[in-house]
Amino acid sequence: MRIPSTTRIVNRALDLRGDALNQNDPATVRKIDTMIRNLYCGMKLKWDSGDGALVITSCNTAGASYRVGQQSCTCPAYSYCNHLRLRDLLIDMAETDAETADMAAS
Ligand SMILES: [Zn+2]
Repeated sequence: MRIPSTTRIVNRALDLRGDALNQNDPATVRKIDTMIRNLYCGMKLKWDSGDGALVITSCNTAGASYRVGQQSCTCPAYSYCNHLRLRDLLIDMAETDAETADMAAS
């Protein structure tokens, strides 16, 4: 699975932010804002070809990187952290891309 460009990820995040605004969900809006800030500050993303985890290199904590699996993340946050949110977003984007490719092929 390829990682889309930062611009595409941010555009998708802004869509979700708009949904959260419409649903009056300021907590989610704040989390998405943080995620977008991190994307712009140079957070590095890659998929581990071994176990499929998303590996995120932090831009706030020098040298820190987190592994994000289906339900869990190695960062110190307890709840649904931004890394899990970002992983869901990337998977969602990959699925949408696959559907679009199917439509183009048929
Ligand atoms: Zn995390």
